[in-house]
Amino acid sequence: MRRISVFGATGSIGQNTLDLLNPGEIEIIALSGGRQVDLLAADARRFGAQVAVTCYPDCYDALKQALAGSGIEAAAGPDAVVEAADRPADWVMSAIVGAAGLVPGLRALRHGGTLALANKESLVTAGELLMSEAQRHGATILPVDSEHSAVFQTLTGEDRAAVERVIITASGGPFRDWPLERLAGATPQQAVAHPNWSMGQRISIDSASMFNKALELIEAREFFGFPSERIEVIVHPQSIIHAMVGFSDGGIIAHLGPADMRHAIGYALNWPGRAHVPVERLDLARLANLSFQAPDETRFPALRLAREVMAARGLSGAVFNAAKEVALDHFIGRQIGFLDMAAVVEETMVRVSGDLCRKDAALDLEDILNADHLARQKAEEVARLRSR
Ligand code: NDP
Ligand code: MG
Repeated sequence: MRRISVFGATGSIGQNTLDLLNPGEIEIIALSGGRQVDLLAADARRFGAQVAVTCYPDCYDALKQALAGSGIEAAAGPDAVVEAADRPADWVMSAIVGAAGLVPGLRALRHGGTLALANKESLVTAGELLMSEAQRHGATILPVDSEHSAVFQTLTGEDRAAVERVIITASGGPFRDWPLERLAGATPQQAVAHPNWSMGQRISIDSASMFNKALELIEAREFFGFPSERIEVIVHPQSIIHAMVGFSDGGIIAHLGPADMRHAIGYALNWPGRAHVPVERLDLARLANLSFQAPDETRFPALRLAREVMAARGLSGAVFNAAKEVALDHFIGRQIGFLDMAAVVEETMVRVSGDLCRKDAALDLEDILNADHLARQKAEEVARLRSR
């Protein structure tokens, strides 16, 4: 039986993943979660998991109690999450949110199986390391982010040398047409209300600020290896086309699908084949209109910052992501405004750039975690200065 682990099992991607799995057909090795201990325990029982682990040590007692009598191991803390990733599995879903997903993903690669990667932050933070570790251990990384899954599917069977451009779409989020003055007063509650996709809180707010698309530009650069100037973003409010690839003969192949992450998760689960996935089928006549517009980098500076990261590479992705996570925390806590998030990230990038000059050296995990740590400290300082 196929051995499967799901990290971030209690989240939006994690729950969509479990929805596609049948307890009798697979063996669950590990499920990880955070504060939603009852949900984690219920899923661990349903699938007969070997181990259930929460990243929070203070949730251990509750998890242990919820698993009492089941014979399922309970564990807690970031080290326990990594230990769970050390348990051999054939297919691992990486769906923890934030840079916290990096080390468990790296460890899972050591088994040489498949890592289904929803955690884009690990590619942004440590793209080169992640890809080289996969190669070293004979592991396969499959993208789960819908745009990247779409590009991956579109490129299958194509000559990569004939690729002129990769175009990922952005819905534009809830603030697509808001003027700058109105954006300044946007609240977390307004930002979380995504028009098309149902996702976790953090990625929903990142979609509103376009930081999600900024992360995705870098993710595409790191995963597919095309030069950054060949990777474009286009705003497409309907979220029906997820990505397009333009070829040297002038043709463009687009990937269409419903705004339901189970398509991309199901693709990663069934790759290299395809199997039935219970998502809604598109009714093209009812859709009628697919529209496009250029992204506005004045109202959404995150995209411009992503271009800087792609040009600099090295540790700049780790800095960018860490600063973004801190800025997002401060916005969620209502200490800074919506537009302050990009300002905090930009200021942090400037402040730490002098300390990170090893552009061409091969990066190891320690360099990356140090850069992440330094950027978090600086971003905290910068955010506090801007706090109202
Ligand atoms: P959620 O916030 O819904 O879920 C996050 C998961 O990670 C939960 O299981 C949560 O536990 C757990 N978690 C939170 N913090 C930590 C931590 N510090 N260490 C370990 N585990 C932690 O996020 P999403 O499912 O929306 O997103 C997951 C990843 O997938 C992100 O990287 C996101 O960018 C990416 N992604 C998501 C998409 C979506 O549609 N949602 C689309 C494309 C990519 P608990 O909830 O129990 O506290
Ligand atoms: Mg996406």
